Amino acid sequence: MITESFNPFIVAQKQFDRIADMLDLDPAVRDILRQPMREIHVAVPVHMDDGKVRVFRGFRVQHNDARGPYKGGVRFHPHETIDLVRAMSMWMTWKCTVVDIPLGGSMGGVICDPHNMSLGEQERLCRGWVRQLRPNLGPLRDVPSPDVMTNAQHMLWMLDEYEALTGEKVPGFITGKPVGMAGSLGRTEATGYGLIYALREALKEEKIRISDTNASVQGFGSVARYAIELYTRLGGKVIAVSCWDQSDKKPYTYRKSSGVDYEELKGITDRYGGIDKIKAQELDYEVLSGDAWLEQSVDVLVPAALENQINKETLSRVRSSVKVVAEGANGPTAPDADKVLEERGVLVLPDFLVNAGGAICSYFEQVQSNMNYFWAKDEVLGKLDWKMTAAFMGVSELAKKKKLSLRDAAYLISVSRVAIACRERGWV
Ligand code: NAD
Repeated sequence: MITESFNPFIVAQKQFDRIADMLDLDPAVRDILRQPMREIHVAVPVHMDDGKVRVFRGFRVQHNDARGPYKGGVRFHPHETIDLVRAMSMWMTWKCTVVDIPLGGSMGGVICDPHNMSLGEQERLCRGWVRQLRPNLGPLRDVPSPDVMTNAQHMLWMLDEYEALTGEKVPGFITGKPVGMAGSLGRTEATGYGLIYALREALKEEKIRISDTNASVQGFGSVARYAIELYTRLGGKVIAVSCWDQSDKKPYTYRKSSGVDYEELKGITDRYGGIDKIKAQELDYEVLSGDAWLEQSVDVLVPAALENQINKETLSRVRSSVKVVAEGANGPTAPDADKVLEERGVLVLPDFLVNAGGAICSYFEQVQSNMNYFWAKDEVLGKLDWKMTAAFMGVSELAKKKKLSLRDAAYLISVSRVAIACRERGWV
């Protein structure tokens, strides 16, 4: 959400300016990269169930496509703003680039609250959004995917509308579709698994065996759940998991010092990633206050729920045992806390590198859809492991060579790759 003191687009531009200074980018390259290439504002009229017509405001922001077609989510949120969408489109460019997939960055959104809309109204909104944006979207132009409050069903309605308008079957128009309807196997696991592939490499470089480590995790949703599953399978021990309790409207941490059992927790979880606290107690979990996950004496902290969780106020609670912070969520570490962690020798694995598994798998879905030929799950996950490992090693090598944090090294790689693409195309 945007407040007077926090505007994500200004944050994204400041981050870019710092890296542009480090790279000594010339003014034209700076100008092209610190703004989106194009932004489209649309009004989408929708016939509501009560017979009235409501006009929804929507956006598509295309930051940069020098390295390939734009790619980015579609967000449905009552507090959506153009500046948030602009920032996200820029971050998407850096994310696709650091893991070296041949795509640019974009993001879209509609100001709406799906909680207060029937499925029919949501379907008409999805179709209307595609009708308004059709000339600017397409498998070779800009490929949408699900994001906040949009899902596989929304993607399928959008695809169906696009195909009705073009008169062709174009499964590569959109990603995040259901498996069996041109979706990719492995997409569900991709972000969580990708995070652990990167963590595995980081620990290897630190000469720490993953099976000798333990971790505390914030979240038990799409990202956290699969991260916990793979980390445990590789021999690590998760001793605490925090998540939101919908009935009490506050978070709790569930702790078991002998290690949480992933399957057991999954069995008492609702579809929003909340854990049933009565059943957890019956299974011998200690139920603690929500932010207790942060103050566990563990080797690895995995914030995989919300932004701004490790900040100036909470930093003092991070124990000296913590060697690695693996950022599953977007923006979980505030910049001032990031600096202190670095000084304390904690290795922070930056979000846009280590949570890029979902973006990589979206790209794989795009490739499979364009071929209309779908891979086995092992093939998808094998390729994902290879991509994440290669990206992590590239960033880590640069960080060591230039004595930088992994975050700065990741930014340097992304911004310089996009700058080179703009120059080589003759844009600047
Ligand atoms: P999700 O909605 O599936 O799960 C969110 C989890 O966070 C739930 O378990 C919820 O109970 C928990 N949670 C919410 N508020 C909490 C609180 N105050 N304290 C503790 N736990 C709380 O979401 P997700 O898809 O797993 O996304 C999590 C983060 O990862 C977000 O920052 C998202 O932007 C980022 N991310 C997600 C993906 C993806 O593929 N899903 C990709 C990249 C980044």
